[in-house]
Amino acid sequence: MTTPTSPLVSVGSANVLIAGGGIGGLATALALAKRGFASEVLERRPAFGEDGAGIQIGPNGTRILEALGAAEFLRPHATTPDGLRIRDASSARVLATFPLGSWLAERHGAPYWAAHRRDLHSALLAAAEREPLIRIRTGVEVGAVHEQGRHVVAGTATGESLEGDALVAADGVWSRLRGRAFDGDTPDYTGKSAVRAVIAAYDVPPALQANKVQLWLGRKVHVVHYPVSAGREVALVAIFDDEHVTSDWSAPCDPAWVDARTAAFAPLLRELLAKPAQWRHWSLMGLKHAPRLAHGRIALLGDAAHPILPFLAQGGVMALEDAVVLARAFSNEPAHPERALQAYAEARAARVGRVGAASRKNGRIYHLAGPPAFARNLALRFVPAETFMRGYDWLYGWTLPE
Ligand SMILES: Cc1cc2nc3c(=O)[nH]c(=O)nc-3n(C[C@H](O)[C@H](O)[C@H](O)COP(=O)(O)OP(=O)(O)OC[C@H]3O[C@@H](n4cnc5c(N)ncnc54)[C@H](O)[C@@H]3O)c2cc1C
Repeated sequence: MTTPTSPLVSVGSANVLIAGGGIGGLATALALAKRGFASEVLERRPAFGEDGAGIQIGPNGTRILEALGAAEFLRPHATTPDGLRIRDASSARVLATFPLGSWLAERHGAPYWAAHRRDLHSALLAAAEREPLIRIRTGVEVGAVHEQGRHVVAGTATGESLEGDALVAADGVWSRLRGRAFDGDTPDYTGKSAVRAVIAAYDVPPALQANKVQLWLGRKVHVVHYPVSAGREVALVAIFDDEHVTSDWSAPCDPAWVDARTAAFAPLLRELLAKPAQWRHWSLMGLKHAPRLAHGRIALLGDAAHPILPFLAQGGVMALEDAVVLARAFSNEPAHPERALQAYAEARAARVGRVGAASRKNGRIYHLAGPPAFARNLALRFVPAETFMRGYDWLYGWTLPE
């Protein structure tokens, strides 16, 4: 049992318990440490190790990685795509190319990166491991949590009982703590699933080798690919309507399944999608009702709080934003964790709601069919590229609290 002290300023004690050592959990520990608060990250998996998949990190996220000290570890492995190229999946016709790269970096003072998830997680972990205020434990599954006086008590699957002054549940979209501490919903299947793979860059057909995020739009389906691992690899993701649900990050998916669903695609795209020897399958989940983000000394963060569909490439970045806002709230109210968590909840609700809605809207637009798809393609061809990107200033221009 750890011995907490209040207020939340003592160095070396695990004042804040964090359930989950994913992007959100590690970022929260880092953000708290930067403000002088100690935390203990409890990760269910026996060891860290991310399955192959890519992640895009907009300027609102890279700015946070810089502030948390993780950017220096990720930079050598990340890529900075110079643009977003959108094509029609059945004809391969280019519909539009929008600027990323130096244009976006100059506009927002931070770059747009693409990375292997493994490299992002390792960077956060490396930054966390050098912080004396952070303790990380693997193989610890938090099963229950309750408040007891001025403390929070977390019970683990092995029967340990851990005490903290507050607990942050960053245990992902399938969060058990959301249900237990907040009466939150179990996630609902959206009817869409993603298949993901990472291939060697030299396997990409020459006509598609480019330092770009490439997005292909089809009927009820889209495909995205972009360079990761400092350009040595390319991450692929395809999102389809699908009746098959899985809660496993790494459920293998037979290439024949992908092949059968992409028969109507242009030969160039089919050639690319035929490259992975194995795909991984991930069901896209949502919550019917947004849960409260804070209840007394317990808060939800990242996908546990707001699973955001991946049509805007922002779910992980929202977890990073949550982390710095939560840490800021603690430094405003070091002696009152419940007030701090309430302020965090109030500060985040509108932002994550807006980003979630924008992502769902993108999903509807991406998967249009028939005349609406024709109208979309026409609009994409004629909208001025920089005007289009300026429409995302509200998203990428988000800045850290002081
Ligand atoms: C197809 C797809 C593409 C995506 N692309 C992007 C993108 O380009 N950009 C972007 O920003 N986001 C993207 N996302 C979203 C992003 O992956 C998630 O938003 C992000 O992983 C959320 O991080 P998290 O830390 O909240 O949750 P997770 O990454 O799920 O981490 C939760 C952690 O908690 C641990 N855990 C679970 N239960 C317990 C427990 N009881 N006790 C202890 N530990 C526990 C888990 O093992 C895990 O390590 C994408 C998502 C998908 C599905």
